[in-house]
Amino acid sequence: MEKEISVWNRLGSRYMIPSMKVPLFILFMLIGVVPMLIQGKVMNRSFKQTQIDGRVIEVQNQCLITSDRLTRAGYLSAETRDALLDKELDTIADIFSGRIVVVDQNFRIIKDTFKLLEGRYHVSEPVLKCFRGENSTVYGNDKHYFALTTPIYNKEENKKVQGVLLMTVSTENILANVDNVEEKAVFFEVMASWILILWGILFVVVLMRPYARLQKILDWVADGNLNENISVNTYKETSLISQAIQSTLTKLKTVDQSREEFVANVSHELKTPITSIRVLADSLMGMEEVPVELYREFMADISDEIDRESKIIDDLLSMVKMDKAAAELNVAQVDVNVLVQQILKRLRPIAQKRNVELVYESIREVIADVDEMKLSLAINNLVENAIKYNVENGWVHVTLDADHKFFYVKVADSGIGIPDEYQEQVFERFYRVDKARSRETGGTGLGLSITRNVILMHHGAIRLLSKEGEGSTFTIRIPLNYIS
Ligand code: ADP
Repeated sequence: MEKEISVWNRLGSRYMIPSMKVPLFILFMLIGVVPMLIQGKVMNRSFKQTQIDGRVIEVQNQCLITSDRLTRAGYLSAETRDALLDKELDTIADIFSGRIVVVDQNFRIIKDTFKLLEGRYHVSEPVLKCFRGENSTVYGNDKHYFALTTPIYNKEENKKVQGVLLMTVSTENILANVDNVEEKAVFFEVMASWILILWGILFVVVLMRPYARLQKILDWVADGNLNENISVNTYKETSLISQAIQSTLTKLKTVDQSREEFVANVSHELKTPITSIRVLADSLMGMEEVPVELYREFMADISDEIDRESKIIDDLLSMVKMDKAAAELNVAQVDVNVLVQQILKRLRPIAQKRNVELVYESIREVIADVDEMKLSLAINNLVENAIKYNVENGWVHVTLDADHKFFYVKVADSGIGIPDEYQEQVFERFYRVDKARSRETGGTGLGLSITRNVILMHHGAIRLLSKEGEGSTFTIRIPLNYIS
């Protein structure tokens, strides 16, 4: 049920978050469609301009030829108007679908191919300019027509402007052509846009396919299939993500495995004293008329086993606490010298009981940022071990030293030592070199693991030098200033 809910939650939140496909698709469209539309518009404009410019040049040439003809024929100075030239002007105006107006030097219109304004006066800026010798081209609204002025010179006095040839030409047919082309272009653009949209969808789907595959595998993993092989190597990115997930998964599996091992070990360790108690109790019950001494002896054994059980539970609890509080170190400035002395004071009776000499040497004063309780537990474990795994009339030397960055606690003993091959393993949970001896001394195999955890939490290090039969030296190094 819980699993089902989590799957729904996953799906629910997945639908709320926008898909990466959307911005990718938009980007594709921006790159593909927008430039195409802009290019279409620009091309259309320049096509329209080229067409109009072409017509203007054509008309300009025609005007020059015509004004030259009128100049040479003395059109403006003649008594009567040349009917042939008039006809010619009408024809030219027709050819260009335009209108020709000839203005004399009194601004009087002497010829209008539309025959509307003859005899009237025409004074305008372009005409005035033309009398000053400047030709001009004027465009009408939206370039629907344009007007050109060309001077007509005096036949006798060369270069003296005698009149103006004003030609107005409609561009409607050009604009109709341009519209026609534009319509075709728009049709092409719409078609191309549709093709681009389809391409865009296809592109995004194909591009995102490896991610979808990765997602599917991860869903599969999330459903508990931790052995799934995650490798989507289509892109470098998916390959890197796969590798990162694979290594996280491997770590998870290791954690899972070590947790299982730990639970098995804990159950085994907890069962051992209970089994002993059961055996002792059963054998007592199975005997008839048991002497009181035997009862006492068995009860003492049972009491030892109970002590052992409670020691294991204590160690387990402090270990669990340590794991839980990994992020919550209770750091304060502590006089490590005083702390070590207190530990040794507590352990001295045990040392005396085993006839072990306990010597402390403090090379300098050490004030450090540490969690007093946890560090005390760690050093206590080391010194207690040095006493426990020692020989008759042996010694334990504890030294405290420091430099500008770290302080060092060295616990050296003249004990049984640890063989080379076990020196790494002794820091593992429940690991004991000599099970029988460890049991005798009340060991649980958790002490060094707790010690190492505490030291790592303080960003420190622990080093072991040992030789079987000669003794061991544990040295811890911890920074004087704790940096979280
Ligand atoms: P235990 O509760 O068994 O002492 P520890 O984790 O403290 O557990 O130590 C693990 C094992 O390492 C011990 O069982 C012992 O075999 C070995 N050991 C630890 N300290 C010493 C030492 N000073 N000298 C020799 N052996 C040691």
